Amino acid sequence: MSRAAAATIHLAALTANLARVRALASRAKVMAVVKADGYGHGLERVARALADADAFGVASPQDGQRLRAAGFRQRIVVLSGFDEPGDLPELRRLALEPVIHHDFQLELLEAERPGPAAPRLRCWVEIDTGMHRLGFDPEALPGVVARLAELPQVERAPILMSHFANSDVADDPSNARQMQRFDAAVAAHDAERSLANSAGLLHFPGHAADWVRVGGLLYGISVIEGRTGGELGFHPAMTLGTRLIAINRVRAGESVGYAGTFACPEDMPVGVAAIGYGDGYPRHVASGTPVLVRGREVPLIGRVSMDLVTVDLRGHPDARVGDPVVLWGRGLPVERIAAVAGTIGYELTCGMTRRVAFVEDWTLPDGAGAG
Ligand SMILES: *Cc1c(COP(=O)(O)O)cnc(C)c1O
Repeated sequence: MSRAAAATIHLAALTANLARVRALASRAKVMAVVKADGYGHGLERVARALADADAFGVASPQDGQRLRAAGFRQRIVVLSGFDEPGDLPELRRLALEPVIHHDFQLELLEAERPGPAAPRLRCWVEIDTGMHRLGFDPEALPGVVARLAELPQVERAPILMSHFANSDVADDPSNARQMQRFDAAVAAHDAERSLANSAGLLHFPGHAADWVRVGGLLYGISVIEGRTGGELGFHPAMTLGTRLIAINRVRAGESVGYAGTFACPEDMPVGVAAIGYGDGYPRHVASGTPVLVRGREVPLIGRVSMDLVTVDLRGHPDARVGDPVVLWGRGLPVERIAAVAGTIGYELTCGMTRRVAFVEDWTLPDGAGAG
């Protein structure tokens, strides 16, 4: 017995999306970003489907530990680096590659006494070119690189990276500024470089550099406002679905659900699907949000409750109890739901709760190339 609400993870879509990213990235190596449990798709399962990536990118050493425990031997970059001295022996033991973005981390490294036999740590150094979240000022870079070079327990030539703040908007002037600052900062260093995330790769392929760091596109999620991943040639990697568990005829003038936000304009069939905000479907979407019932789009009506949503079936007279319902994924881009929910697709796929069953699927949609 299980609840009908399930997130189906399309592993062949992940693999095909990686192949497409590789083609776009031409000679650059591809870091598959799998932070936040693989953008909510499940870390180990996503890593299996993306095993051809040149490296995985995770947020924390703990995620790196999970990947190593699952047997992954690929390079693993810890994008937020480390934040306590006790992390360093673990990073070494597991051959994780931390991003160094702050003096505090350099001080921890300088205070470390790892012993002559300890494996060298391979480090990435983040430069703040304008996002002002993580990273060293460009002017500080030579000093940082020099300090790292003093440390026998650190590999020569850290990989130099920066992160875009607005790459989803191709003509935002900050992009050109960040690229200029990055190019100027790294010019004097003989080191590998990495700048582009998903949107950066699409908009500025000339700055794919040595490594692209791609998350969203691998999951088939658009990173460009107004476009869906499908329109960009990528396949959705998650379909959130459930079933209709009731169809009721509700009389004209009666309202549906909590707070009575939807009043029936006529006698009408109302479908009830077994999914709600307790599963991670956003509570604040309005009546009219699209839902697929056995392949046909119908509008959600009334409030989303914890376990249930209600839909207007006037346009779908053949709907039956037990019909499959899709909230987003194949046939209904997550970007459309994100737009009405006032968020981005990433937040929706990251938000699946523990009670949602995950199902693995290796098919690609009809007509899709296998990449
Ligand atoms: C999350 C992240 C990425 C991937 O971003 P996408 O938009 O999902 O491609 C790349 N680099 C860094 C530093 C990140 O934190």
